[in-house]
Amino acid sequence: LRSKLPHIPTTIFTVMSRLAAECGAINLSQGSPDFEVDQELKDLVNHYVQAGYNQYAPMTGVKALREAIAAKKQRLYGCHLDPDTEITVTNGATEAIFSAISSLVHPGDEVIVFEPAYDNYVPTIRLNGGVVIPLRLKSPDYRIDWDEVRSSLSPSTRMIMINTPHNPSGTSLRPEDMAALQEIVADSNILILSDEVYQHLVYDGRQHESILRYPELYRRAIVTMSFGKTFHATGWRAGYAIAPPEITAEIRKVHQFNTFSINRPLQHALADYLAEPAHYLSLPGFFQRKRDLFLSAMAGTPFEFLDCAGTYFALASYQRISEKGDQEFARWLTREKGVAVIPISSFYTDGTDERIVRFCFAKTDEALLAAAEKLRW
Ligand code: GLN
Repeated sequence: LRSKLPHIPTTIFTVMSRLAAECGAINLSQGSPDFEVDQELKDLVNHYVQAGYNQYAPMTGVKALREAIAAKKQRLYGCHLDPDTEITVTNGATEAIFSAISSLVHPGDEVIVFEPAYDNYVPTIRLNGGVVIPLRLKSPDYRIDWDEVRSSLSPSTRMIMINTPHNPSGTSLRPEDMAALQEIVADSNILILSDEVYQHLVYDGRQHESILRYPELYRRAIVTMSFGKTFHATGWRAGYAIAPPEITAEIRKVHQFNTFSINRPLQHALADYLAEPAHYLSLPGFFQRKRDLFLSAMAGTPFEFLDCAGTYFALASYQRISEKGDQEFARWLTREKGVAVIPISSFYTDGTDERIVRFCFAKTDEALLAAAEKLRW
């Protein structure tokens, strides 16, 4: 068999969650909440199932949902989106990213990716014949070196992928980053794929720098977002891609033959639920409290945490504990200490190992405190 992705292992999220289950460990690895979806939203889904909304949704997504998304973006980011031509509902942001790259990246096109990078970016680019240009975010603060971006551009540069707030580092882009990006892509045909699934998880009073706030960037961009991350429902696989009409038309050509459309009753339920802004405006406070609870409990352990300005992930160095590589350490921690984490080397094309692991704090307070207790040494 001639593999199309010969060096790609099973995703680390599957590996670590499986190991956590086998060992009965507290699972702080995969980024998914261990608490429930709001009862009101569950009731809405039940309602639409019972009311008979059970056949194919429109290929582009249920209109009421696309309208609700457009209204929300206008409120949050001051942009005017046409729900018919600029928003496509997808099977999670993962499908949005896949459909965007498949439809826009030609064989031989270069795509700039910042590492550590979420693990579906690189395989998706390569599967489509794209050439990955990995640039390193420098620890401890994981900022983008825009001079390095400038010097990495070539006539083949087709796309720059950004992710803010950033998984796994928890950093988020600032206005000066957006200005640098704007200056770099001006007068070029470079597209921007902006993965913003953690748009609501920005802390300490900071504002989320969405591409949607920057018309000069948006006109060449695809923005991917997620209901799973936003409403604690990762198992629903519901997300969307926002892009100007010309780009959206291309994305839909792939989306229609990839998944065609997604789960219909959910879409109607989400449309109703989005009408109440408190449902998403409460999220930064909700997760900031979890971050603070977790970090203060973990202060009693030998882990050294890096700053976390966004997402529901926190990175920590374990240099005081072990000399092991991060893959081995994460497995050892799961088996021996009963807490599962993600080794960050999985987010580098060259396996860079800085002996840092990622903790997910989208968990009940009890699970977070119990994990900290197990890691006291
Ligand atoms: N986005 C999640 C994370 O970073 C994982 C998603 C998945 O398991 N596919 O942990």
